[in-house]
Amino acid sequence: MTKRKRTTKSPTIIVQGGAGRITDKQSHRRGVQGAALAGHEVLRGGGSALDAVIRAVALMEDIPTFNCGTGSALSIGGRIEMDAAVMLDDLSCGAVAAIERVRNPILVARKVMEETDHVLLVGRGALRFARRMGFKPHDPATEKRRRQREQIIRQLKSGREVKYLDRLASQMRGEKLGTVGAVAMDATGRIAAATSTGGMRLHQDGRVGDTPIIGAGTYADENGGISATGHGEQIMKLVLAARTACFMAKATAQKAVDRAIRLATRKGCECGLVALDRRGNVGFGFNSKVMSYAYVTGGNLVVF
Ligand code: ASP
Repeated sequence: MTKRKRTTKSPTIIVQGGAGRITDKQSHRRGVQGAALAGHEVLRGGGSALDAVIRAVALMEDIPTFNCGTGSALSIGGRIEMDAAVMLDDLSCGAVAAIERVRNPILVARKVMEETDHVLLVGRGALRFARRMGFKPHDPATEKRRRQREQIIRQLKSGREVKYLDRLASQMRGEKLGTVGAVAMDATGRIAAATSTGGMRLHQDGRVGDTPIIGAGTYADENGGISATGHGEQIMKLVLAARTACFMAKATAQKAVDRAIRLATRKGCECGLVALDRRGNVGFGFNSKVMSYAYVTGGNLVVF
């Protein structure tokens, strides 16, 4: 890996609260703004990029508006299976997939990075690990999400005997997205990226999206950091986060994101990206109707 000269950088953070169709714009705005400011406060206090992205993402995991942590979308079987990942620009990373009954999957992902020699733990194994690390049982389902699921299933069936509900449900999955993520650079120039999601709504039990797949939904290296949101299956096929990092080797974060979004659009992948390059420039873009995001750079806050 190339050695980088570290000079004092202006702390910068960019967060995203999902791309797609956002029904509750006000609470999205409040959520991403609060997360960006909280992460930035960590950086201003001399905290690391890692602490900043974890703080921002954990905060959004606790806000039911977002599809992650408490308020995650339910699967077709009525389960909440969450995915999360964190990565540093020195390639350290940790992730969990299809984890149930914890409050903050991103904190478990951090433990995977710091306490194991693995990258990704899934399902029951991830949960057992979380309990060993002291994470208490928590039911992330909200009444609103339960009602939404029941309503959609009723709508899909509408009086019919339906054998393959999951096939019908696939038509509804892409409609409303809402993952969260953050990318930050601290005063030492170190970059971290983190992403967390409840997955696509009405996904099949056991489905894993792009979020915890290193290089797909989350990535960081010497070129910068990226967090993705959108149609996970398509994002995985394009290895979109790692590809954006490659683009950043020779371009600013914004130019790299623009190029990645153009590629995604050509390939029929509905998505959004937030990124930070090694110079501390932010980049964001999406080809969905809207993406909720906020960033603080040079002391200025920008909210979508
Ligand atoms: N990318 C997430 C997934 O496919 C969903 C989202 O971003 O809303 O699991």
